Amino acid sequence: MDLVALKEALAQREQPAFRLGQVWAWAARGAGGYAEMTDLPRALREELEHAVPFWRLEVERESRARDGTLKLLMRTADERPIEAVLMRFGDGRRSICLSSQSGCPLTCRFCATGSMRFGRNLSVSEMLEQALALRQRSGGGALSNAVFMGMGEPMLNLENVLEVCRRLPDLGITHRRIAVSTVGWIPGIEQLAQSDMPVRLALSLHAPDEALRTELMPVNERFPLADVLAACRDFYARRHRRVFVEYVMLAGVNDRYEQALQLARILDHEAFTVNLIPYNPTDGAFQGSSRGAIDAFRGALEAQGVRATVRLTRGREIDAACGQLAVSA
Ligand code: SAH
Repeated sequence: MDLVALKEALAQREQPAFRLGQVWAWAARGAGGYAEMTDLPRALREELEHAVPFWRLEVERESRARDGTLKLLMRTADERPIEAVLMRFGDGRRSICLSSQSGCPLTCRFCATGSMRFGRNLSVSEMLEQALALRQRSGGGALSNAVFMGMGEPMLNLENVLEVCRRLPDLGITHRRIAVSTVGWIPGIEQLAQSDMPVRLALSLHAPDEALRTELMPVNERFPLADVLAACRDFYARRHRRVFVEYVMLAGVNDRYEQALQLARILDHEAFTVNLIPYNPTDGAFQGSSRGAIDAFRGALEAQGVRATVRLTRGREIDAACGQLAVSA
C-alpha cells in the first residue's frame, strides 16, 4: 500500500485527516483490502480500490521450508525483485526479515545478494508492505521481531528504514525488537545513534583484522574495521544497547583459534555480543565451518569473556537463509 499516494487521494477527496490513520490501522491489523474497512464510507472504499490499489507489490512466488520459514519473492511496480522472509521459532517468536533495497551495491564475497544487479532503494511503503504480506500469511500469529537483514544495505536508505521502524509497533513489533544490520557504513551508524528510534544495531564484521576484512568485504577499504568499531562503541555509549556482531563462519578463512583470540581482543566485551552465523551455501568459493569448528570458536570467545551465540539456521533449502537472497534478473 502506497501511503504517500493514499494521503494525496484522500486530500483530493476532501476526506478528514483521520482517514489515513484509519486505513493504516486496518492494514496493520491484517486487513486484505479496503472492502474490509467497515468504518470507511462504502463509496470511498470503492474509489480507493481503483485510485490507490491496496497491494502494490506483486507476490511472484511463495516458498515454504520444512522448519516453517516462508520466503516471498515480490516485484515492485517497476519490476524490481525483492525478497522477504518470515521465521518461526520454537519459543513462539515470529521474526520477519525485510529488504531495504532491491539488490545491493556492496560486493561482499560470500553473499549472494552482492552478486546480483543493484536496483534501487525501497520506499517506506514497499518495506511496510513486505511486513504486511508476511503478517497476512503468518497463520494468525502476531509478529514479534523484525530485522533489516534481507537484501540491501539499510544504512544507505536509513531515513526510509527509520520511517518504517516508526510504524512497526502498529504491527506488534516494538522498537526494541527491531535490529538494523550494517556492513559498517559509519555515517549510518552515527545517524542511528543520534536518532530517536531505540532500535538495535547489528554489525556484519566477519574478520578480526583489516586485511582479511577487506578481502571479504571491499567496503572495509572505505570504512576500516578500527573506525567502524569505534563508531559502534560510541553507539553503545550513547544508547546503552549492546551491538550484535555478526560473524559468518568460513572454513579455513576466519575460523581459526588465533582469530577467535584476535576477535576477543578487538571487541569491547561490554558493548558487543557475537553472533556466529553458519555459512549458508551460495555459488561462492567458500566452505562453511563445521559444527565442531563453530562450537570451538564460540568456546574460545567465551573463555576470553566475550558473549557469543550461534545463530539458528532457517529456511536454507528454499534459499531463504542469510546471504542467500538473490534473484537472477
Ligand atoms: N547489508 C547489511 C544487511 C544484510 S544482513 C549487512 O550486511 O549487515 C545479511 C547478513 O547475512 C549479513 O550479516 C551478511 O554478512 C550475512 N551473510 C551474507 N552471506 C551469507 C552467507 N552465505 N551465509 C551466512 N550469512 C551470510
